Amino acid sequence: DPVLVWFRQDLRLADNPVLAAMTDRPVLPVHVLEEPPGGAAAWWLHHSLAALGRALTERGAPLLLLRGDPRRLIPDLAARIGAAEVHAGRLTEPSARARDAETHAALQAAGRGLVLHRNALLHEPHLVRTGAGNPFSVYTPFSRAVFALLEGLPPPLPAPTHLTLAPGAPEGLPPDALRLLPRPPVPDWAADFPAHWTPGEEGATARLGAFLEHGLAGYADRRNDPAAEWGTSGLSPHLHLGEISPRQVWHAAREKGGKGVETFLKELLWREFSHHLLWHRPEMPTAPLRPEFRAFPWRRDADLLRAWQRGQTGYPIVDAGMRQLWRTGWMHNRVRMIAASFLVKHLLQPWQDGAAWFLDTLVDADLAANSASWQWVAGCGADAAPYFRIFNPVLQGEKFDPDGAYVRRWCPELARLPDRFIHRPYEAPEAVLRGAGVRPGRDYQPPLVDLALGRDRALAAFASIKGGQ
Ligand code: FAD
Repeated sequence: DPVLVWFRQDLRLADNPVLAAMTDRPVLPVHVLEEPPGGAAAWWLHHSLAALGRALTERGAPLLLLRGDPRRLIPDLAARIGAAEVHAGRLTEPSARARDAETHAALQAAGRGLVLHRNALLHEPHLVRTGAGNPFSVYTPFSRAVFALLEGLPPPLPAPTHLTLAPGAPEGLPPDALRLLPRPPVPDWAADFPAHWTPGEEGATARLGAFLEHGLAGYADRRNDPAAEWGTSGLSPHLHLGEISPRQVWHAAREKGGKGVETFLKELLWREFSHHLLWHRPEMPTAPLRPEFRAFPWRRDADLLRAWQRGQTGYPIVDAGMRQLWRTGWMHNRVRMIAASFLVKHLLQPWQDGAAWFLDTLVDADLAANSASWQWVAGCGADAAPYFRIFNPVLQGEKFDPDGAYVRRWCPELARLPDRFIHRPYEAPEAVLRGAGVRPGRDYQPPLVDLALGRDRALAAFASIKGGQ
């Protein structure tokens, strides 16, 4: 009985419950190309599908690539190869859930079915509940509950060594089916990405191995140092597309053991928590989870947004982060928090605008993690930081990048400034600037906003939605 295996955010062979359920059954692996969330994600998907395609071909069942509406394509394809079942991994994005429900209904109308497996998360969002039977809205009790549930987590599944291709796949596919893949939108924008990333299962496995070797033991101490090599794992884009499963990462980290493990596992649970939130609060990508924030007096300003996007705010840690994002498709978590906070608090730009930019430029663009994090930073999330805690980008820079190594790397025009001024170039005397080869206003721009003024304005805006308290 042939089976249609529909690959989505599980572009791997190892620890793939969808494939593991297929022993001895003929399969047709398929991926339906859709609009990726953004340009950087499109670049990644392109290479990831190419890698998966190669791996599947080696196993005897090449990947069929289609473009179009899966609600029609998948049932048609199932009918064509005579598959009673379509198997896929469960997704949490609201649009994917709605689409899966419709695809399932279309399949059912023809006596077939869509079987969903857990393969993107450690624990299914709808199965984790508070003692009272409700979804969690606070991270700490959620992580405690999931930690307990994961005590008996079975080991990862092996990759299939051989697959049997189901006959009857549609003809007329181009010999090089990968030509159907989306092209990165700006040819030279992703030029630096290959120096930083190797999309695909092999790249993911190699990165995990290197992180276990060089990063895990120091993770608790170095995870907030944006300049550190292997300060964090860099696994997020691989995890997003399921090139490696969280279960593989979880087990490997635990097996390795030692210092840093506990802290690292807790980060993996932030990922779980974001998906849990998105599952239960599908409005999260666009609407504040705290309703009072609907009336927040944002001051939408295209020029301010653009300056932030380009890394031209005049605050070096923010600018370094935004440029790292543009150049590599990734930004260190600490700097994501600082840059996001600066946009929504000091510049009073709607968090949705910042989130949209991140979704377009991050290789790890993930609707759940991104919108949960932006809401957390903006203070309107389920478990958000209190609004009045406003990150000061200069003090944050001095604390987490004390010698300015991160800033010097991404804002080379400031590289020769002494440590004392690296996070506050606008305070440097003319002679110091000149000595460092910085022409104020030409090589580096003055601050977009005064920090004290921005802070007071943000607090006043917040007070206005709290009834003026
Ligand atoms: P590590 O420190 O090595 O952590 C391991 C894994 O845990 C990560 O790969 C990631 O899957 C998960 N993780 C860690 N922190 C978080 C977190 N706060 N929330 C959810 N999962 C987490 N992460 C994304 O994957 N996609 C996004 O689109 C995204 N947008 C963000 C936007 C903002 C404003 C902020 C503040 C954070 C965002 N994050 C996002 C979370 C976090 O910054 C990244 O997951 C992390 O920087 C990825 O680097 P890493 O793999 O080296 O992390």
